[in-house]
Amino acid sequence: MTNKKSSPFKLIVIVTILVFALITAAVLLMDSNSEDNGKAELGKQPPIEGQPTIGSEEAPVSVVEFGDYKCPACKAWGEQFSPHLVEEYVANGDVKFTYINVLFHGEESELGSLAAEAVYKQNPESYWEFHKKLFDQQPDSNDHDSVWLTMDTIVAVAGTIPSIDLNLLQEDMQSQSIKEEVSKDSALTDEFNVEKTPTVIVNGTMLENPFDYEKIILLIEQELEGKE
Ligand code: CA
Repeated sequence: MTNKKSSPFKLIVIVTILVFALITAAVLLMDSNSEDNGKAELGKQPPIEGQPTIGSEEAPVSVVEFGDYKCPACKAWGEQFSPHLVEEYVANGDVKFTYINVLFHGEESELGSLAAEAVYKQNPESYWEFHKKLFDQQPDSNDHDSVWLTMDTIVAVAGTIPSIDLNLLQEDMQSQSIKEEVSKDSALTDEFNVEKTPTVIVNGTMLENPFDYEKIILLIEQELEGKE
C-alpha cells in the first residue's frame, strides 16, 4: 500500500527534477549564447602603427581585418562589406580601417603580402587600389589551390597603377625591411590567435562571423555611443 503510493510520488519528484534540470540547462545555454553573442572580447586592439590604414587617425573606432590575398572569403568580404564600411563610417571620420596580412596559403600568400607592403612603402596612396586590384585577380573558382598569385600577376596589376614604380617594387620585395613588415604581420596573427580569414576586430572585440555585417555595425555604433 505504502509502496504503491510512494512509487508514483517518487516518479513525480524525478520527473520534476528532470524538467527543472532541462529548463536550467536551456537557460544556461541561452545565457552563454547571449554572453558570447558571436563575438569575443580581447581587451585590446591590434596595434595599427605602420599598417595600411584608411580613414582619419583620430577616428574613435578601429576596425582591423586580418586577411589573405589567397582567401576567397576575404575577397568576398572586401567586395561585399568594405565599400559600405568606407562610405558610411570611414568617410565621416568615425572609423579607421586597417588590413594586416595573414599567410595561411604558403608562397602565394607571402608573395602577395610582400608586394602589398612594398607598394605601401613606396606610395601609401596607391596601396588600396593595388590591394583591391590584386584581390580582383583571384579567380572565382572559390578554392585556395589554383595558382594565380605569381610575380607576373603582381607586375601586371602594379602596371595598371601609374603611381607605382615597377622596378622599385620588385627591388623592395626582396628587401629586408619589407620582409620584416610581413613577419610583423605574422607575429600579430599569432598574438591575436587568428585562426581563420578574414578575422575582423572592432576596438578589441573579435567577430565570430565576419559576415554578420549587422553585428559589425552594431559594435561600431556601440563604440561610437560610448565615445560621445
Ligand atoms: Ca602589414
